[in-house]
Amino acid sequence: MTALPPGATIGILGGGQLGRMLSVAASRLGYLTHIYEPGAAPAAHVAHAVTQAPYEDEAALRAFAAGVSVITYEFENVAATALDLLGAARPIRPNIDALAVSQDRLTEKTFLGGLGLATAPFRDIPDLAALQTALAELGAPAILKTRRMGYDGKGQVRIDDPGQAADAFAAMAGQDAILEGFVDFRREVSVIVARGLSGETVCFDPGENVHEGGILRTTRVPAALSGAERTDAALLAGRVVNALDYVGVLGVELFVTNAGLVVNEIAPRVHNSGHWTQAGCAVDQFEQHIRAVAGLPLGDGRRHADVVMENLIGDDMDRLPAHLAAPATQVHLYGKSEVRPGRKMGHVNRITG
Ligand code: AMP
Repeated sequence: MTALPPGATIGILGGGQLGRMLSVAASRLGYLTHIYEPGAAPAAHVAHAVTQAPYEDEAALRAFAAGVSVITYEFENVAATALDLLGAARPIRPNIDALAVSQDRLTEKTFLGGLGLATAPFRDIPDLAALQTALAELGAPAILKTRRMGYDGKGQVRIDDPGQAADAFAAMAGQDAILEGFVDFRREVSVIVARGLSGETVCFDPGENVHEGGILRTTRVPAALSGAERTDAALLAGRVVNALDYVGVLGVELFVTNAGLVVNEIAPRVHNSGHWTQAGCAVDQFEQHIRAVAGLPLGDGRRHADVVMENLIGDDMDRLPAHLAAPATQVHLYGKSEVRPGRKMGHVNRITG
C-alpha cells in the first residue's frame, strides 16, 4: 500500500464547496487537484486544473482520468456510466459499490438493515396502490421520498393524512420513491467517520444538527448525548465503513430516539455537519479524507474545543461583518458570486469552549 507522493494529482468529481475545501486540504499536503464539474465550480478557484464537461462526455472523462493518480468525489449523484469508465482507468475512493449503496434510499436502508442497524420503517412505492397500502401499514405522518437524487430536503413530501396520498404520489413526478414511517426523535446528530487504505478508522465526535426547511442550519459539538449513545454512534459508523470496505470520510445522519439511535442516511463523502472539525480538531474531515484516499495514515481527529458551526445561507451573508468581527470565529466563504435564497454561501465556526 504505497501512499501518493507529494506533487501527485488527486481528481475530484464535483466542484462545489466540498470539492473546494478538499482541494485546499490536498494542497496543504503537497498534492495537486483536478476538478471535474459540468457547471460553475467554486472549487476551480483553488484547484490546479479544471475540466468543465458533462458526465456523459467520454473523451473528457478519459482525459481527466489520464491526468490524475486517484479519483474521489464530493457528491454521491455521479452517473454510474461515468464511474464505470473512470474506475476502469484509476482507483476510485471511496469505492463505487459504497457510492451505489448510498445513491438509492431503498438500497441504502436495505443495506443498513442487513447490518442490524435501525432505520425508519420503509416501503418501496412503485405505484399509488402501493402507497395506499404502505400508509395503512406504517400510519401517518409518513414521508414520501424519491429514491434517488434527494438532498437538503428536496424530493420529499410529508403525508399527514391518507387522503393526501394521490397528491404526494403526483409530486414524485414519476420518479421511484419510498415511504418512510415517521421517526419520533429527540434530536438529530451525525457522526463523521474516516477509514484509511489499511482499514483503520477514526471517528469524529458526534455533532448535534438543527435543520430548517430541510437544510442544515447549525451543528454543535459536543452533542447532548449519553455516554452509551456516543459509543453506539461510533460503533455503528465503524460497522458501516468496514462493511463497505470504505476508504475516505463518510457521514452518518442519526435520529436519537428513546429506543436508541436510528440511521437516517449515510453520505459517502465529507459532510456539511462535519465542518466544525475545521475549528475543533487538529486534523479536520477534509484533511482526513485526503489522507485516506492518498493512502496516508489517518490523523488525530480528537475534539479539542466546543464549536458551533452555522451555515451562511442566502441573506445570512448580510451578517458577515458581525461574524468577521466576532471573537473565536472562523469564517469560510465559498466564492459564490450570486446570493440566492437557500444557497449555501459559506459557514462560520464559533469556538465556544
Ligand atoms: P433527509 O433528506 O432524508 O435527510 O431528510 C431531511 C430532514 O427531514 C431530516 O434531517 C429530518 O429532520 C426530517 N426527516 C427525514 N426523514 C424522516 C423520518 N422518517 N421521520 C422523521 N423526520 C424525518
